Amino acid sequence: MASSIGFDTTVRYARVALDLPASQLGASWFDYALDPQAREAVEPGSWVLVPWGAGRRVGLVVALAGHTDLEPARIKTVIGALPGARPAPEPWLRLLRFAADYYHRGLGEVALPAVPKLLRTPPAPRARGSVFDRARARFDAGTETTAPPAPPAPPELNPAQREALAVLEASTGFTVTLLHGVTGSGKTEVYLHWLATVLARDPACQVLLLVPEIALTPQLAAQVAARFPNERLAILHSDLPDGDRAAHWLAAADGRARVVIGTRLAVLAPMPGLAAIVVDEEHDPSYKQQEGVRYSARDLAIVAASQRGLPVLLGSATPSLESWLAVRRGRYRLARLPGRIGDAALPELEVLDLRHKTLQHDLAPRAVAAIRDTIARGEQALVFINRRGYAPVLGCDQCGWLSRCADCSAYRVLHRAGGAQRSGVGASRGPARYRLVCHHCGGEQPVPRACPECGNIDLKGLGQGTQRLEEGLAEMFPGARIARLDRDVASRRGAAQKVLDAAHAGEVDILVGTQMLAKGHDFRRLSLVVVVDCDGGLYAADYRAPERLFATLMQVSGRAGRDARASRVLLQTRFPEHPLFGYLARHDYDGFADLQLAERQQVGLPPWRHQALLRAEATTQAAALAFLAQARDAGQALLGDDAAVTLLDPVPMAMSRLAGRERAQLLIESDARPPLHRFLDAWLPRLRELPGNARWALDVDPAEI
Ligand code: ADP
Ligand code: ZN
Ligand code: ZN
Repeated sequence: MASSIGFDTTVRYARVALDLPASQLGASWFDYALDPQAREAVEPGSWVLVPWGAGRRVGLVVALAGHTDLEPARIKTVIGALPGARPAPEPWLRLLRFAADYYHRGLGEVALPAVPKLLRTPPAPRARGSVFDRARARFDAGTETTAPPAPPAPPELNPAQREALAVLEASTGFTVTLLHGVTGSGKTEVYLHWLATVLARDPACQVLLLVPEIALTPQLAAQVAARFPNERLAILHSDLPDGDRAAHWLAAADGRARVVIGTRLAVLAPMPGLAAIVVDEEHDPSYKQQEGVRYSARDLAIVAASQRGLPVLLGSATPSLESWLAVRRGRYRLARLPGRIGDAALPELEVLDLRHKTLQHDLAPRAVAAIRDTIARGEQALVFINRRGYAPVLGCDQCGWLSRCADCSAYRVLHRAGGAQRSGVGASRGPARYRLVCHHCGGEQPVPRACPECGNIDLKGLGQGTQRLEEGLAEMFPGARIARLDRDVASRRGAAQKVLDAAHAGEVDILVGTQMLAKGHDFRRLSLVVVVDCDGGLYAADYRAPERLFATLMQVSGRAGRDARASRVLLQTRFPEHPLFGYLARHDYDGFADLQLAERQQVGLPPWRHQALLRAEATTQAAALAFLAQARDAGQALLGDDAAVTLLDPVPMAMSRLAGRERAQLLIESDARPPLHRFLDAWLPRLRELPGNARWALDVDPAEI
């Protein structure tokens, strides 16, 4: 019968993922009708323009369908394919699907933010040309190679490096290798040798090199460009101008860039020819995204490698306990670089007990003397303090008033602004101006002329920040060339690089700074490191604090003596007997890691157990806690007496108030991942139905609790 033959099974609809919070909408895609023309042009993975409200949005087609459950009156039609865009490659879609499932988010929430803004902004209706074509032309123009000079001969690997390389070259298919090498042991050289062999094997393949911090990309990019002058290199991080970001991302996505270097977001760049991944400083907390979809780039790198059957190399001087346990369990291979390159010895560590000492600008007499000796010898000293600004808090010693932030459970930090900015080399001096800044919400205010409580006009900055320390050092060492590096300095484009270049060129006697100085840099002539305050991490509430502190202290110590000078690290503390210092002084990562693993096993913490965290915020702490209590009840009802998943009690977050919102959290724990994720899948729809107007978000494998 003609009518049954005419039964229509052709594609009529596209399921389109959009960048909208699926966890709260309850939908991870939206159905749109396809007109005949769009039907020709659209396939799964296509980028399309769709109407949304009064405007338009860019979406990703996840599937085509012959029917929809939407009422006919509510169906809108796809406007068309995004001009110039090529369909997303299948391996990339697979990674995104994994990430969406694992982090319990919509595919669009993962996919769209991974695309540079220029490329995912709907073009103006009558726009001429395509941003994609312009981005391609921009990359080509920026990376034109003018008959490259012959690449410098790579250094000959030492026996430990050769052995590590042999482990890597023997890897076929999916393997994870942990390269555990002390600072200055030549890990980067192993990466480069390995990547050279991978690139030589297949002229179409691509490699990905992840670094934890934007500031580390120029140095590594220069090394890579010198080593592989004929290969096109793409750089990806969040601080690039929009045009460059689009150009480099597209070069990765089109397979035109053979080497991609980037921060965590680069793990979500589509790379059709991906053949090998390196994650440098794999333990670094900045691999975990802290807003939106809270993914771990290190973990996703391993997933991508496993999905595609590729080798991945994790490098670190202080591997994460997750990776260390995986080695102990035989899931990762271990390669080691136990010593520094050449004759360089590891620095000697000394713990300086701050108790009962007269301090000068918070420096112990021994630290001051050591700095003096160092610069007298024409060498560099690094003074490390993990607090930017002038002083962590402003206070009144008449009545006890402190500069609390009105909107957060935190103090506003005293900052020096304006003419007195000495930062950088040769910066001008002028009258100092001060302001109070909250490092959590960004709230700012001028310094009050007098105490708001008692009228005392003699308010004092309490404690040390980078700016004050810089000032104190200038006072103690008047002739010394001092440079500071912290996020305030780095917020001016190019300023951080200026400080680093000066330090590398030996134009600095004393470097003062935060974390930003600790990682990766290979300073010459640097023979002394002073850590002003080690105590913040020793007895902190977060169980990961000692692991972090150990890694930071190892890293910052590792800046000393990399060019074969005898070097020293002075650690200032009020708890000199803390066991962490013993492991540090012996450079005994294994001992420290094994102890931490044993402690965490005893109390049932990651990496032995797995966690997810439900965070809620509301206008009052009571409302946030009440929401979580209901969430907990709903979850417990789902679980019944199934003990595979444990729901803890809701508690206020360590920083309970942020930007005027009260925050609380509920921890979910399990011995294994599958039951945890099954539970979360069943639980999330219930959360959407709970009354109250708390905002909430789920964090799988939270980095901070
Ligand atoms: P890591 O990344 O482990 O901290 P790097 O790879 O930066 O160490 O190496 C430290 C220094 O030693 C660098 O200046 C590097 O160029 C140099 N280097 C590395 N391997 C060798 C080698 N086999 N021979 C000579 N120099 C080397
Ligand atoms: Zn007062
Ligand atoms: Zn604040």
